[in-house]
Amino acid sequence: MDLDFWWLLVIPVAFALGWMASRYDLKALLSESANLPRSYFRGLNFLLNEQPDKAIDAFIEVAKLDPETVELHFALGNLFRRRGETDRAIRVHQNLLSRSDLPVNERDHALYELGQDFLKAGLLDRAEETFGKLKTGDFALGAQRALLAIYEIEKDWNRCIDTARQLEVMGAASLDLEIAQFHCELAQEALQQKKPDEARRQLSLALKANSQNVRATILAGDVDAASGDSATALGHWREVEAQNPAYLPLVAEKVMKAYEALGRAEEGAELLTTWVDAYPSNDLLDVAYKYVAALRGADAAHALARAQMQKSPNLAGMSRLLEAQQAAADEPRRSELELMHKLLQQRTKNLPRYTCQNCGFRARLFYWQCPGCSGWETYAPRRVEPVPASS
Ligand SMILES: [Zn+2]
Repeated sequence: MDLDFWWLLVIPVAFALGWMASRYDLKALLSESANLPRSYFRGLNFLLNEQPDKAIDAFIEVAKLDPETVELHFALGNLFRRRGETDRAIRVHQNLLSRSDLPVNERDHALYELGQDFLKAGLLDRAEETFGKLKTGDFALGAQRALLAIYEIEKDWNRCIDTARQLEVMGAASLDLEIAQFHCELAQEALQQKKPDEARRQLSLALKANSQNVRATILAGDVDAASGDSATALGHWREVEAQNPAYLPLVAEKVMKAYEALGRAEEGAELLTTWVDAYPSNDLLDVAYKYVAALRGADAAHALARAQMQKSPNLAGMSRLLEAQQAAADEPRRSELELMHKLLQQRTKNLPRYTCQNCGFRARLFYWQCPGCSGWETYAPRRVEPVPASS
């Protein structure tokens, strides 16, 4: 009996305690909000009524009266920038910077955010100038990264290299992969300007930064081919097999053309057949099939396509196999196969794509830098068909 009586008491006691606690919370809230300037509530009201410009003016007034509202400015500025309203974000951050009593770290933070606003607005020169002011402090590393992104957009590869090295000195992880690519970009420019010596110098710097950089090896062949030296070019392109055979599809056509130029086409076809066998890929097969059919006839090409299809069945391989069968067949079987091949070709023509392993961006062309996420070497050098959703 006694136990039941005590339980009955617990309920009103808990209720009374809760009531006292809520009164205390309410009091604290009221005294805190009494300390907030009226402009704060006016600003909030404008913001809720979707009048952001008036809201900014009200908040700027708060900031003048109350130095404790720095966080409010950062929150507002980021909100506007995320919504793409960069002019408003710029105003908020510039206003913050105009305050003379701003602590150094907050000033750096505001500069960094302002730089991001300019970057988002596409005002690269102003972004560069703003980030350039952040040489030291907590935001220096972030600013340097942003500068690297800006120089990449501007294709100012020499400054990219300097900035990347500077980042490494500041403690960032190794950027050798990117630096090698910057040298490759410079080499490619030199090649276009018909300056083979400068191109070669850049390529050796690229390989010094990253000995695994296949692009430099391919470009070295391109430089020699442009000077009419097919034999040396061929030597470079064949190095790709030892360096990273996954990239062979990118050089297969070049290799075949060089063999043809040297009057050794049959030798080239033999090499391609070996590659297709050792490193199965549709892109390699495409090139090999074309040359084997021309040099050795339809039957040899058919055998190549069949062997490949057995190794890795896919739609592009199937289309290729039908093409081979069609070439060897008699009427009316030939017309049937032609129809099947055409239909399959229409369906598969645009299917295989290079896919960025970082952001998933799919592209018909191979890119060393992803147009979607700006990452370097994020594309595997093989086109893949999308996996159909299971029904
Ligand atoms: Zn990407």
